[in-house]
Amino acid sequence: MSGNVSTASGEVRGVTLASPAAHRRQCMLALITVALPNLLSLEALRLALEGRAGWIEAALFAVMYLLSITGATIGMHRLFAHRAFEAGAALTTWLAITGSMAAQGPLLFWAANHRRHHAYSDRPGDPHSPNLHGRSPRALCRGLWHAHIGWMFSRELSAWSVFARDLVQQRRLFRLHQTYVLWVALGLLLPALAGGWLHRSWFGAWQGFLFGGMLRIALVNHASWAVGSICHRWGSKPFRTHDHSVNNHLVALLAFGEGLQNNHHAFPSAARHGLRWWEPDPSGWLIMLLARLGWIWNVNHPSPGAIARARVEGTA
Ligand SMILES: [Zn+2]
Ligand SMILES: [Zn+2]
Repeated sequence: MSGNVSTASGEVRGVTLASPAAHRRQCMLALITVALPNLLSLEALRLALEGRAGWIEAALFAVMYLLSITGATIGMHRLFAHRAFEAGAALTTWLAITGSMAAQGPLLFWAANHRRHHAYSDRPGDPHSPNLHGRSPRALCRGLWHAHIGWMFSRELSAWSVFARDLVQQRRLFRLHQTYVLWVALGLLLPALAGGWLHRSWFGAWQGFLFGGMLRIALVNHASWAVGSICHRWGSKPFRTHDHSVNNHLVALLAFGEGLQNNHHAFPSAARHGLRWWEPDPSGWLIMLLARLGWIWNVNHPSPGAIARARVEGTA
């Protein structure tokens, strides 16, 4: 489906409106994705405060966090949305599955929305800019809410024919997109099974589900959503870009490098977002390791000259 929607600033290409029925379904899915992990995280927190969570829960949380955030950052973002490197079938499939486990939407939804974000960054048509709601403190809060969570409830759709035509044509990727719910469920089942087996109890399975599943999804998603909200408002801007993208190192640590949003908007197809050795980009470091192992190739990186030319004078 392709088309345009009208905004105050004119027509926006590649954005259509969902039918009322499709919009209701989309809102229901978004509500479950947002509300359930956050609500059940409170139960995980209660168990932790009562001393009923130990190293097993911490390990399940850490392993699942690592798997799903690298699936989202290295897979969904840098490989599928930006084609920042090339990989074989096994690694591509692995990244699509672990990226889906992050519960941030199916592959084509993710990539099409993200490419639209780059096409219209902080202008009408950007699906999740915090900067299009006015300048008052109230408008700023509205913008941040929209950029963090509210955008998922929008009627606007990013047309695959405009933003994801290359991905739709790849059969394996399309099948992984269609089976999204299965991979989200697997990401909940695996820590539950591991928790039950390690504790030898049903309560252990519940703990695994809470810590490796729900709490992990909630925190991975808040880190990722903060890239769209906080990293288009607060941070440093070492590069000239036509948007409000900034580098925020705290978000970069939590979101495995994605918080270096100004670097990324200056060089969208670069596989590494950290352009200085001290900029926190765990996904970029992993990408360098994968390249060294020969598991990925044709890794895009801007030349030192291109980086120097784009840099704002006087910035580190
Ligand atoms: Zn951005
Ligand atoms: Zn991007």
